[in-house]
Amino acid sequence: MKALFLDRDGVVIEYIPYLSKPEQVKIPDGAIEALKLWQDQGYRLVIVTNQSGISRGYFTYDDVMAIHQRILEEYGQFGVQFADILMCPHQPADNCHCRKPSPYLLETYSQHHHIDLARSYFIGDAPSDIECAINAQCQPVLVLTGRGKETKQHLSIVSQEIIDNDEGGQKAKGNRQQEFLKQSNYAFVKYNDAISIPIFDCLLETVKLIRVC
Ligand SMILES: [Mg+2]
Ligand SMILES: [Zn+2]
Repeated sequence: MKALFLDRDGVVIEYIPYLSKPEQVKIPDGAIEALKLWQDQGYRLVIVTNQSGISRGYFTYDDVMAIHQRILEEYGQFGVQFADILMCPHQPADNCHCRKPSPYLLETYSQHHHIDLARSYFIGDAPSDIECAINAQCQPVLVLTGRGKETKQHLSIVSQEIIDNDEGGQKAKGNRQQEFLKQSNYAFVKYNDAISIPIFDCLLETVKLIRVC
């Protein structure tokens, strides 16, 4: 089975730092339509989120559950069902196993639910999302919503270059995703010598990837 892993803040809902109340939940334009299409293609939708505000004492576990309930309702009324929401409630000082970019949550979840990580995607807006996907050998996708633009800069600094479409096309090779990108006009950012990450303006644009799968 294949999954579409999704970061929460800046991807599934609009980015508000340390969002703590259900009333603050806002669904980005096109997000419902996008996730319906992914779901219809047989992807199990799973949110993966770091909520260090719990450990930092900014809000409680129950506050987060109320927010997640709201997210499930907002999407659910349009037929989009998240199978699960995986969460790390810790902050870096806690030295936990689960905080992204650790692949722990993706790997343990995938073992339990027979998810083929190589055929699955992880859409995120932060470096920790991209690195989590890479660490779990899942296919990373960057969206420029939330902190995405800042992340693109960060990744380009890491790699010293952002490939334009043509040059990227020549360099992309290997898996089907990269073959597809070679024939497409999508931008992607080079993370290191081995990995190129497709970039999309928003969640709705990511449905272009469905054609590769
Ligand atoms: Mg995020
Ligand atoms: Zn954790």
